[in-house]
Amino acid sequence: MLGAAGYAGWKYVLPWWKTQPPPASGGELKVFVLDVGPVNGDSMLIVSPSGKTILIDAGDAGKGKVILEVLKRNNIQQLDYFIATHPHPDHIGGADEVMKVTKVLNVIDNGEPPDVPESLLPQAKPTPTSRNAPRTRPRTTSRTASVIKFYEEYKEAVTNSGAQYEKAGLSKQYDIGGGARLTVFAPSEPLFTRDQMKTGGNLPNANSIVIRLDYGDFSMLLTGDAEEQTEHRMLTKDLNLRTTIIKVAHHGSKYATSEPFVDRVKPRVAIVSCGEWNRYGHPAQVVLDRLKTAGATLYRTDMHGEISIITRGRENDFAVKTSKELKGDVWEGRMAQKDDSTRTGFIAYGDFGPPPKPKKPSK
Ligand SMILES: [Zn+2]
Repeated sequence: MLGAAGYAGWKYVLPWWKTQPPPASGGELKVFVLDVGPVNGDSMLIVSPSGKTILIDAGDAGKGKVILEVLKRNNIQQLDYFIATHPHPDHIGGADEVMKVTKVLNVIDNGEPPDVPESLLPQAKPTPTSRNAPRTRPRTTSRTASVIKFYEEYKEAVTNSGAQYEKAGLSKQYDIGGGARLTVFAPSEPLFTRDQMKTGGNLPNANSIVIRLDYGDFSMLLTGDAEEQTEHRMLTKDLNLRTTIIKVAHHGSKYATSEPFVDRVKPRVAIVSCGEWNRYGHPAQVVLDRLKTAGATLYRTDMHGEISIITRGRENDFAVKTSKELKGDVWEGRMAQKDDSTRTGFIAYGDFGPPPKPKKPSK
């Protein structure tokens, strides 16, 4: 009997116990969803109950100052982790600005370079006819260089920071102190390839890092710019997707936050990080309708500014604060400037024209 009980314990209880987060210390855990608008972008700061700090994404180039201001306000001198969800400028563009002045101990990303479109790759030069002719190396075109500049700057900043670098791996866990924990839910190997992209799909987005944050009875799902394909993969794996709060994928794009995924996550609060000048139709009405039907409370950085969450990890214990008072209908989505549903792959800012000029205040 004892042996059977022991076997059952080893087979069922141990794996269950291993997936349970450590007990909450009762200290405050804070999550800030930063306002890195008015063009699109993502940046989130987690301060664990023991004071460990995690920055997930850093907004677009020039947004480092927003992050540095938040670090200063919270008296944060160093970052224990910087996590880059995927190599797109609206997520890592401001990373070098932060890393140049803030000590970062660990950097985690998905190990993938940006997906540069065929048309921007350097053309192969004809082979020289003379054996003595100097070999010409294909040179990076200026357009390619400008397209990947944000990535070069990010890589250089990581190298110069002296931080420990780690590639994200499925189910890897990080103890961030005080009973709080991060778990990687995506990407999973083998990573998506360009030919697997569905129409409207974007490769770096599909391979975004997705992280679950646990603290006692509180949990949050941080989805980067994940695509529906990423969600589908997570649904087919044995992952605990049910979470208190979701950072909605891809700024509320219609290519993510699918119905089966929302059904599994069952978020009580949904947060969309998007800019009021974005040209992509973020957040999409269809996504907002899905979240509303699921009974979630909605917050948006384009309407609420910075959104902060404080919890002590007990059940039903979290407070959400916003830096701006809501004006207008939070459940009203935005229209895309162009219909991009027939194309796949690289979508740069240039494809959608410049953001509108801010209106001059009327006298
Ligand atoms: Zn993005």
